[in-house]
This record gives sequence, structure tokens and C-alpha cells, in this order.
Amino acid sequence: MNDLSHLKADFPVLENGVHFLDSASSSQKPIPVLEAMDRFARGSYANVHRGAYKLSVAATEAYEGARRRVAEFVGADDDREIVFTRGATTAINTVAFGWGLENLEEGDRILATEMEHHANLVPWQMVARRTGAVLDHVPITDECRLDMDAFEKKMGPDVKMVAVTGMSNVLGTIPDIAAISRIAHRHGARVLVDAAQRVPHLPVDVTEMGADFVAFSSHKMLGPTGIGVLWGRMEALEEMEPFEGGGEMISDVTLHTATWAGIPHRFEAGTPPIIEAVGLHAAIDYLDSIGMEKVFDHDKALTAIALERLGDVPGLAIQGPKDLEDRGGVISMDMKGIHAHDVATILDEEGVAVRAGHHCAKPLMRRLGVTATARASFYVYNTEADVDALVSGLRRAGELFGVR
Ligand code: PMP
Repeated sequence: MNDLSHLKADFPVLENGVHFLDSASSSQKPIPVLEAMDRFARGSYANVHRGAYKLSVAATEAYEGARRRVAEFVGADDDREIVFTRGATTAINTVAFGWGLENLEEGDRILATEMEHHANLVPWQMVARRTGAVLDHVPITDECRLDMDAFEKKMGPDVKMVAVTGMSNVLGTIPDIAAISRIAHRHGARVLVDAAQRVPHLPVDVTEMGADFVAFSSHKMLGPTGIGVLWGRMEALEEMEPFEGGGEMISDVTLHTATWAGIPHRFEAGTPPIIEAVGLHAAIDYLDSIGMEKVFDHDKALTAIALERLGDVPGLAIQGPKDLEDRGGVISMDMKGIHAHDVATILDEEGVAVRAGHHCAKPLMRRLGVTATARASFYVYNTEADVDALVSGLRRAGELFGVR
């Protein structure tokens, strides 16, 4: 395993010794991110794209510089393919409403999967209702992988959009997006990847992935809340109408009509998240200084240790792939006879922070036959000691509840 234990000192929140295993929900922020935002807010802050004065020009350069950095990080061909949003949720809604209302009609199908986060499900339900399109789903196998045979069978010329997770926030499953994109494109469909869990943990090259839209959030990748990214292939962005209207997104406005600014600014109505863009830039620099291959290897190594040690905990079932293939560092656990919230509360007493609940994936919970799971998720600052604390906390929970 790559030894990243020296990184822990960069994360002030972890100084109190908490075993933080909830990064799939939101990650901690390292000092360089906090300092970059503080420095910018103190020294260079102004609104962007408006002022002729030096401070605003500098702020605009910082904001557009963050766009260039994101483009480079995900391998975009063109900076204009990066749209800043409020988060992955807003990025997906921007496509669902901006693309969906323009391009879907009665008789069309939208194909999602059974393991989507509500963020990649509910917007499509709303848009299906408005357009008369039908929302259909690809099942998962009993091994908790996407059923690719079923996907191929479900594809057809009436499928106009395939909305798929880049990595399940419940199971850790990583679908083969390149294969999905190839099949979808053969049938003329567009592909949107909810990469909220993927971009923070895996090397991502949007060109290699081959999808048309990729959505992710800064706060899950060591950056601040309040900013996310929609990458769109230029020709796909050109098929979209702005989802929000307002300042900054127009070319001209009369009392009755408006014309749009160029891409991407037409999709960024209002004052954007400027300080947050600076923070995201710093977070990407931080991740790049580690190297995304190493980040993923580290998550995987901790997952391997955890899966092995959790296997010996009485009454514990893992919901998700049991092997490491195409799997990230998210482990959902179900303990016989103990509600996930009780598990999480006992773990908290042991200084271990995990999330409990349906993880915004209620249809997946129903498919798995559970109402909730306790979920541990790993990131760069986690160590083997965090895994050990999790395992011993789970053993204690089992003992308290008399689980054998
Ligand atoms: N998709 C997945 C898979 C997620 O895990 C999350 C966050 N839990 C989201 C989408 C939504 O991200 P955000 O709340 O940052 O918009």
C-alpha cells in the first residue's frame, strides 16, 4: 500500500483523532485548500466578468483559471466544455431540464440504473413526466454489478438518454462507462455519468470514458461545498437550452426576449461560486500532487484490508461486490438484528464516523432487501488504524446486541 499516512496532518478536522469514514458523503479539506480560499478572499476577491477594475480582472482570471485546471484534470478537449454548477445535483438537473426538455418526447425512453443516487433519478422522473418519455432501468446482478446483458437488451432506438452512475455511493461498484457509452452511441443515445463518487477517487479522462455528460461535486474531492462541475461534449452542450435564466448568461436582452451568451457562460446564470472555484483549483492541485492512480490504489488497499477483516465479524453482511474488481472504497454493511443507526451510534462512541441510512438510493435499498446500511468510505487521509477501529467498533456493537 502507498503510505499516505503523512497526509493526515494536512487535515485540521482530523486532529482530534476521529476515524473519519464518511468521505463518500463529503470529504475533509486540507490546509492548502483552506489557505488558497482565505488568501483569495482576503487579497483578490471581487465579482467576475463585470468590472473593468484590476481586482475584478484578477478574480475573473482566477475563476477562469480554475475552469482551465478542471478541464486539464478530467482531460477535456476544450475549457468551454466545463460548466461550473452548485454541485453534482445541479449539474445533472442542468442536463435533465436543459437537454431533456429540448430533446425528449412521448415514445422516447430514458435508461437509468437500479443503483442510481436520487440525484440521477428524480430529475429524470420529473423530466419524463413533463415530456411523456418513459423512464426505464437497468438491473444489477446478485453480485451487485451492473447487468450488462440486460443493458444491451434494453437498448433500442427509442432510448435517447442513458443516465448511469460512475461509481455507486452505496455498493462501491464501478460500471464500465466506456463500454456503456459505446453501446449507447451505437443506438444514437446520449450518456450522462453521475461521477460524484468517481472523479474524486479514480483517474478520469472524459475523452476515454466516451460519455457525453459527466457531473461531479467539489466537496467530495477535498474542495469546498457550493461548487460542482458539468463536463459536456461540445456538440452535446450545443443541444441544450439554459436551465436557469439571469445575469451573466445572456448576449442581449430586450423587454421581451433574450439571446444567450456563448458556452459555457450561458449555463452559469447569476454570480458564480468564485471563492469556491479557487478552492476547487487548490483541491485538484493537491490530488494531482499525490497522483490519482495512487489515490485509487490507496482506497483499494484499505478496502481489501477492510473486506478481509470485516469477513470475520459475526453477523455482518457486506452489501456490494465482495472482490476488488471494478470496485471503489465504499463499503455498505448490514448487521444482523441491529439497525444501521444503532451501529453508527455505537461506532461514534468509539470515535468512528460512518453514515447510516438509505444513502439517497431508496430503490437500490429495496432491491437489496434492506431499509438502511451503515456505510464506511475511504479517502487519502485514512489509514489501516481507521479500518481497525471500524472492525473493533463493529465487534463491540455485535457484543452489545448479543449477535453471534
Ligand atoms: N451522486 C452520487 C453518487 C452521490 O454520492 C452524491 C452525493 N451524495 C450526489 C450524486 C449528489 O451530490 P451533491 O449533493 O454534491 O450534489
